[in-house]
Amino acid sequence: MNNKILVVDDSESSIEILVELLGSDYDVLVALDGETAIEIANEDKPKIILLDIVMPELNGFEVCQRLKGSVCTKDIPIIFITAKSDESSIEMAYDLGGIDYVTKPFKSKELLARVKTQIELKNLITSLEYLSSHDTMTGILNRRKFFELAALNFNKKKENQYSVMIDIDRFKNINDLFGHHMGDVVIKKVVNTIDSHVKEDTLFARLGGEEFVLFGQYDSKDSIYNEVEIIRKKIEDLQIYEDSGKEISVTISCGISFYNDKFTSIDELLKDADEALYEAKGQGRNKSVIRNS
Ligand code: GH3
Ligand code: MG
Ligand code: MG
Repeated sequence: MNNKILVVDDSESSIEILVELLGSDYDVLVALDGETAIEIANEDKPKIILLDIVMPELNGFEVCQRLKGSVCTKDIPIIFITAKSDESSIEMAYDLGGIDYVTKPFKSKELLARVKTQIELKNLITSLEYLSSHDTMTGILNRRKFFELAALNFNKKKENQYSVMIDIDRFKNINDLFGHHMGDVVIKKVVNTIDSHVKEDTLFARLGGEEFVLFGQYDSKDSIYNEVEIIRKKIEDLQIYEDSGKEISVTISCGISFYNDKFTSIDELLKDADEALYEAKGQGRNKSVIRNS
């Protein structure tokens, strides 16, 4: 995990003291003015920012406001560290979204402890966010996060959107014949195969058991069908063996749908893909079907 702290202060001597204090535990980045601080925050995504208030041009409050107003930087915790100790400055710092307030001159141990607490809290939040948005077994997005992100994307740019529902064929048989553990192995191999074929900006999630979804933008409808067919064949060609050496054959069925302007929500796009998947199952499985509605 990154261990970067951004220290923002217009006084070089203050910066030196902070670098000396924090340098052995953290990767310390420095900025002598507000604009530079905002640039570094956007580029380097520090874990936490120590922010002076009185600075020429942009002051610390303005920097805080700008950082909290941008989706890219709003979640970086800000500790104000300043000579100002009047009540209204402290109130303002918290009102603008600061997480802590330390007055100069500070006590080294106390500052270190406060920084450590905020870093630990930030790490904890990051791991909880990961756990609540990813499927534990495969590491891809879970159902909840998928619907959150897909709905956001759906409302942004609808044209050229497509969705694919993917379901492992006769998976119950695999469990019955080879055991639940091998069933899990199959799910992970199928996920890795799909994952290595989808573009980075395509959403790929596990909707439940042995059912997965893709959601993204297409250049041409044919190219999506071809890509899905490549994935389907790759899975058909997977060589997965049971401990005894017996080969486990695995296939998937895929239902593809494309956006049309009658759709008012992501659910309708997915419903079409689901119906196409149902057709693929009906046609004997190990098939990709496009829904033309
Ligand atoms: P179809 O071709 O119609 O999709 O048949 P199927 O057997 O794949 O479908 P069905 O929905 O009847 O069975 C899915 C099975 O997947 C049932 C369930 O026990 C199993 N399953 C769900 N989640 C997991 C999992 O995480 N691990 C394992 N090993 N099995 C799972
Ligand atoms: Mg199935
Ligand atoms: Mg199923």
